[in-house]
Amino acid sequence: MAADLSAPSFWLSQVDSQRPHRPPLDGDLDVDVAIVGAGYTGLWTAYYLGLAEPSLRVALLEQRFAGYGASGRNGGWCSALLPMSVPAMDRRYGREAAVAMHRAMVSTVDEVGRVVATEGIDCHYAKGGTVTLARSPAQLIRAREEVAVSDRYGLGLSFVDATEASARCAATGVLGGTYTPDCAAIQPARLARGLAAAVERRGVRIHEGTRAVALLPRTVLTPQGTVRAGVVVRATEGYTPELPGLRRALIPVYSLMIATEPLPGPVWDAIGLADRETFGDYRHLIIYGQRTADGQLAFGIVAEVIQRRYVSGGGGYPAFTFRGGSTVIIGAEGEVRYIVAKSVKSEPRLDKQREYAATNGADVYALDTCRHELGRRSGTHVPSGGEQ
Ligand SMILES: Cc1cc2nc3c(=O)[nH]c(=O)nc-3n(C[C@H](O)[C@H](O)[C@H](O)COP(=O)(O)OP(=O)(O)OC[C@H]3O[C@@H](n4cnc5c(N)ncnc54)[C@H](O)[C@@H]3O)c2cc1C
Repeated sequence: MAADLSAPSFWLSQVDSQRPHRPPLDGDLDVDVAIVGAGYTGLWTAYYLGLAEPSLRVALLEQRFAGYGASGRNGGWCSALLPMSVPAMDRRYGREAAVAMHRAMVSTVDEVGRVVATEGIDCHYAKGGTVTLARSPAQLIRAREEVAVSDRYGLGLSFVDATEASARCAATGVLGGTYTPDCAAIQPARLARGLAAAVERRGVRIHEGTRAVALLPRTVLTPQGTVRAGVVVRATEGYTPELPGLRRALIPVYSLMIATEPLPGPVWDAIGLADRETFGDYRHLIIYGQRTADGQLAFGIVAEVIQRRYVSGGGGYPAFTFRGGSTVIIGAEGEVRYIVAKSVKSEPRLDKQREYAATNGADVYALDTCRHELGRRSGTHVPSGGEQ
């Protein structure tokens, strides 16, 4: 099943349109709240504003279309993770606040599940938890340490032995791991699109194809008109540095993912992830994966780091190997790609991969046929200190 290569991401190739289909702003506008950016930040803000005060006049301005950014391109982990550990929050804000924050994150996973059920958003939400594997003695130490921290704060992370960890996700060299129930696998673009429709039903106007060229106090300038608002919400995440005066507000970082074709049952029997657990391991690099509702394997990694550290020439780096030989491989050449196949080496040219595998007698279940690359300009961000 070849996905639409012109789509900005694999996930977006599975939704109705990859172009703006809502009318842009046409002229000046006065509203109570103007939200710039129709990703999760903008859409959830609009959603809860609509619930809290239905009479509010809310307008969402989006340069491309709802879900165009990282929200339509991510790993699909609806998790309770924060980019700051509970002990770090404890040091800065105190134990009570840290634990409360963690609990709020945990309840958010269920809240997303509740809203998608209430609003009829078919985003393939499956709360199978996360298994994080320890695949070396050093990783095992990290796993145990994380469980010790969890026990200290009552966070509910369990240590799982090699048998239980492998039963959830059968990778090679599993020595143990951890498991938390607090994560759901989702199809992220479907969530963004479904949320956009839900906020429209609540009277929020979404203007796609409308780029904010400057954010001023209570004012958003766009080529189509000026929006005046009591409150302006900036929800532009990785794109924020493109706005005037905000070049140093955030450091955009990116991660790349790819997905396989749907894998046949016997491959999934070998790999596991029967409850659609999201998975990763305890290496220092971030890797993340999920089994999609369609039986595809979606996998992500921090690409630049891999390229710098491990990949040279035209070879491939096996990023993750399941028992039975199915391997996620990262190619070189500045662009990341993965293959899931059985005992097959990488072939740098995507269009040659299947042919290469066949002629090498590999038992190929699935090769990537689509450049399921997630945008280079979108992504998570880290505050750079330029702005609080
Ligand atoms: C590969 C990858 C994997 C990830 N995996 C996960 C994961 O598994 N779980 C998780 O929780 N997080 C994950 N993240 C992070 C997560 O996806 C983002 O933090 C989240 O989607 C950000 O949402 P947002 O609405 O703030 O930003 P975005 O989704 O980027 O939305 C911003 C929107 O603003 C619009 N915009 C930008 N500038 C303007 C402008 N000037 N005028 C009008 N509109 C504008 C953009 O077009 C875009 O639609 C991942 C990110 C990436 C890149």
